Amino acid sequence: MNTLHQKINVERIMQRIDKLAECSSTDYGVTRLSFTKESEAAAELVSQWMRDAGMSVRRDQLNNLIGRYEGKHSDAPVLIIGSHLDSVVHAGKYDGILGVISGIEVVQTLFENGVQPDTPIEVVAFCDEEGARFHTTLLGSRAMAGSLRDEDFEAEDEKGTTLASSIRELGLDPSAYRLAARDPKTIKGYIELHIEQGPVLEQLDQACGVVVGIAGASRYEFRVEGSAGHAGTVPMALRKDALVGASEMIQAIERITLQYENVVATVGKLTVTPGASNVIPGTVKGTLDIRSIEDEQRHEALKLIVEECERISQRQGLSCYFYKIMESSAVSCSNSFMNVISTVLEMHDIIPFEIVSGAGHDAMAMAAIAEIGMIFVRCKEGISHHPAEEVTGEDMQKAASVLLDTVVKLTASID
Ligand SMILES: [Zn+2]
Repeated sequence: MNTLHQKINVERIMQRIDKLAECSSTDYGVTRLSFTKESEAAAELVSQWMRDAGMSVRRDQLNNLIGRYEGKHSDAPVLIIGSHLDSVVHAGKYDGILGVISGIEVVQTLFENGVQPDTPIEVVAFCDEEGARFHTTLLGSRAMAGSLRDEDFEAEDEKGTTLASSIRELGLDPSAYRLAARDPKTIKGYIELHIEQGPVLEQLDQACGVVVGIAGASRYEFRVEGSAGHAGTVPMALRKDALVGASEMIQAIERITLQYENVVATVGKLTVTPGASNVIPGTVKGTLDIRSIEDEQRHEALKLIVEECERISQRQGLSCYFYKIMESSAVSCSNSFMNVISTVLEMHDIIPFEIVSGAGHDAMAMAAIAEIGMIFVRCKEGISHHPAEEVTGEDMQKAASVLLDTVVKLTASID
C-alpha cells in the first residue's frame, strides 16, 4: 500500500459520476451520444475536474479530452489512463465514466499529496467508444492509435448527419484527424479501469480483477433456405422447413462451442420469412457472434460450425450460406502490467483473478501503439448498457485505490 497521506476520495468520485449522468438526452437512463450538446456538457465538467486535479487540459483533433499531469522528466514517455465519455442509448452511469473519473481521482490524490511522478501522466476521456450514433466503434482511441481511415468520416447518424459534419459543427477540422495520432515512442503504456460488464467477479465475490486480454470476435450473418408452403397441405415428409433446419444448426453451434473452454458463440437474431402462423418457413436469416481470447480456437470452432451447418442443411434438403460481417483479433494485456496490477490487488487483499474481456474497449485500439493493462470492477449482476448498471461505493473505493497504487508503481511517484 502506498504511504500517501491523502487517500482516494470516493464521495468525490460518486458525486462526479452522478453529475455526469445529468448530461443525458433522455430521462430514462443515460443517453450521451458523441458530438452532441450532452457530450460537450460532459466534456466541460470533466475539463474542470482535470484542472482541479492539477492537470493542463487540451482537446485533440477528434475531440478526445486530454488532461496532463507533468512528471519530473517532462520528455519521458507518458502513462495514459483512459476510458470513454459516450454512452449507448438508455445506458447506465458507470460504463466508460468510471475509468475517466477514477483516473482523474488518482491524479488529484497525487496532486493533493504534493507528489510529482517521475514520468508524466495523462488522463484521456475518449470521445466515442460505443459508436451508438455513427455505428463506428472506438473512434476516439482509433484516432489516437492512428488507425482511423478517411472513409470512417462518411458514416451517418439516423438523421443523415455525417461524422465529418458533426465534428465540423464543434469547430474542429475533421480532415486534421491524423494529427491526433500519437507516436508509440512517446507512450509508456495505457491503463484502463472499466466495469466488468459480466457476472464473473460477482460470482468470485471480488471487487476487482486483472484483465488478461480482450477477446477476438467474428460476426457472421447466415441464411437458411428451404421452401415455403401451406401449413395444412404439405405433408411432414415432403417439407423443407428452413426454421427446423436453423433450430438444429443453433443446437449444433452450442454443442460445438461447448467443446472449447475459451470460446463463446451466440445466435442473437433470427428473421423468419414469410413469418406467418399458417406458412412453413421458407427462409431464415440469423446472426452468429463468436468470440475467444485465442484466435486459433475461434477459427477452428467457426470452421466446425460451418461444416456442421452444411451437413445439417444437406440432410434436410436445405441450403445454407454464411457471410462475414466483421472480424477482430484478440488483444493481450502486457505481462508486466498484469504483474503490477496483480501485486497491487494482493496488497489490497483482493485475489488477483484473471479475467478475459468479452467486450471491446478503448484499450483494444490503444494496444496498437502501447502496452496495455486493464482492471475490471464488479458490477451488480453483470448488468451493463442498461439503467440498472450498478457499482457499490465500496468497490469504487477499492478499484480507484488499486488504480492509484498501480499508477504509483508504473510512474515511480513515490520512492
Ligand atoms: Zn465502455
